[in-house]
Amino acid sequence: MGFIELYDISKIYHLGEVDLPVLKGISLQVARGELLALMGASGSGKSTLMNILGCLDRPTSGEYLFDGRAISGYTAKERARLRNRMIGFVFQSFNLLARMTAFENVLMPLMYCRDRLSEREMELRTTELLEKVGLADRHHHRPSQLSGGEQQRVAIARSLINRPQVLFADEPTGNLDSRTSEEILALFQQLNQTDGITLIMVTHDPGVAEHAQRTIRIKDGLIESDTAFLSAGAPL
Ligand code: ADP
Ligand code: MG
Repeated sequence: MGFIELYDISKIYHLGEVDLPVLKGISLQVARGELLALMGASGSGKSTLMNILGCLDRPTSGEYLFDGRAISGYTAKERARLRNRMIGFVFQSFNLLARMTAFENVLMPLMYCRDRLSEREMELRTTELLEKVGLADRHHHRPSQLSGGEQQRVAIARSLINRPQVLFADEPTGNLDSRTSEEILALFQQLNQTDGITLIMVTHDPGVAEHAQRTIRIKDGLIESDTAFLSAGAPL
């Protein structure tokens, strides 16, 4: 059994009288521990597919199994619970809370947990993650006092606070210069290889996709190609 399994997923957006089909029958399996890049031209449906994979949105039709659970039938509340426990997100625009410090941004999702940790445990976990992403000395900085790369590191630490099994990153380096992008990609590779986190990353940049073990391209609502690499950059 796969970790993530999609069967004939379609997504049609309804805009007034107009139906806009974006995904037209996507079938896909992802195993635990993969580092996968999802590519395609702008407007090809990458974010739409990502939002379905991340249980933020539902497909119009098709079946989605997440770790053996049939997600397609889940209510919004059930999906929210699953996301909270199993899934982390990283976005192009970081999505940090401007009034909060790096420390508070990372800790925040723990406040929404059903099984609340003690204050001491929450602080310990936050401190460990800020150290893991290389920001041990930035606890009290607010987003406006951090560089783009540092803000994305805070967002990555935040995405890991509930110890998710899979991380979805939508154009995570889209707002970063090339050197900072390399650093963020190296961090993703480390999380994947050392911590075994499954990572699915959307990008339109072939240089970014080279850091993945597998690249899926979507075009006209369908999978155009699905290529595995033994190690980053080297074809199987
Ligand atoms: P990508 O991430 O590959 O650039 P998207 O998945 O964001 O593409 O969008 C794919 C298509 O779906 C685009 O034509 C976009 O305009 C349309 N679209 C995306 N989200 C919505 C929405 N919520 N409602 C209507 N149309 C949407
Ligand atoms: Mg997008």
